Amino acid sequence: MINITSPYLPNKEKYKEYVDEIYKNGWITNNGPMVQKLERRLAVYLGVKNIVLVANGTIALEIAYRALSLKGDVITTPFSFVATTSSLVTNNLNPIFCDIHEETLNIDETKLEGLITPNTSAIVPVHIFGNSCNIEEIKKISKKHSLKVIYDAAHAFGVTYKGKSILNHGDISTLSFHATKLFQTIEGGALVINDDSLVKKTRELINFGIESQESIPSLGTNAKMNEFEAAMGLCVLDDIDFIFKQRKTIYKNYINKLNGSVEFPVQNKQATLNYSYFPLLLENKEQMQALQQALNSEDIFPRRYFCPSLDTLNYIEPKQYSPISRSISARILCLPIYPGLSLDMQNKIIEIVINTININTKE
Ligand SMILES: *Cc1c(COP(=O)(O)O)cnc(C)c1O
Repeated sequence: MINITSPYLPNKEKYKEYVDEIYKNGWITNNGPMVQKLERRLAVYLGVKNIVLVANGTIALEIAYRALSLKGDVITTPFSFVATTSSLVTNNLNPIFCDIHEETLNIDETKLEGLITPNTSAIVPVHIFGNSCNIEEIKKISKKHSLKVIYDAAHAFGVTYKGKSILNHGDISTLSFHATKLFQTIEGGALVINDDSLVKKTRELINFGIESQESIPSLGTNAKMNEFEAAMGLCVLDDIDFIFKQRKTIYKNYINKLNGSVEFPVQNKQATLNYSYFPLLLENKEQMQALQQALNSEDIFPRRYFCPSLDTLNYIEPKQYSPISRSISARILCLPIYPGLSLDMQNKIIEIVINTININTKE
């Protein structure tokens, strides 16, 4: 069975060495030495000032909203993983959906200003599939209206924008290190904090609001990463160049052979790619389903990232309508891409895609 992705598992012996060290330390969670080491290494690797590791990417978003004291309405994209929106709702914030660009699949910054009201406190864009948003324009609009910007950068690990980490934009950028993501710590996530004054508060918020033994100034939660997860991250980080290289090779093979047969999202030219996803934009839902079935019948399981469009979630009030996001959600399909996906399998997938599209277009 071939899935959309397969978690990258580093060398077992190396992981065991870290586990031995954890046993020796007897320190298994609560900002232990592995977490501290991974924070230092990631800050250098990614080229960011402040990074705070947390338990997952969803809680990273929630902590970001709390650190920035968001209130009322938050403008976000309807085309993302559900956590981008659900994290707002669970924090009593109202998601206001700004539809996406049909070509880049990112939030359409030309539609932002029309949605801003006195109730708006922030914008939460997503660099979808690791493709950079229009950062400059979003910055301009947020400054003009005094709005906070939190980038959900769950897909953008290692991406650079104009030669520097994309994570340096916005008040905070968040990452997910879930098993299925490019860089994984089993479960995990991080906040990249660009406003230095927020670092101390963020560290309190992830640890029950505790500042010191006798002082609990903030209303916090438990969002800590543990030592076994951090050790996994340290092992995976050692192999990160290999991971990127493998993904790039698969990506290039897909692009070279599928170019002309099928449409892909348009990439932001100012930013690099991290080859984390391989989305295909099919002509319509029928063509997407035909391809999904053809692949499934060969035990290959692409994913409908992202479906449903988040403006259709039943718990969103008032009801909203983002036609472009809905149209894309109905006809997008992401192909398997991960280190270890064999060349034979890539070529089989390519052949199925081309055959299905040819039949489907002739009909
Ligand atoms: C994976 C993901 C998240 C959630 O991250 P978890 O670590 O699974 O909680 C949030 N936003 C986006 C865009 C994601 O893809």
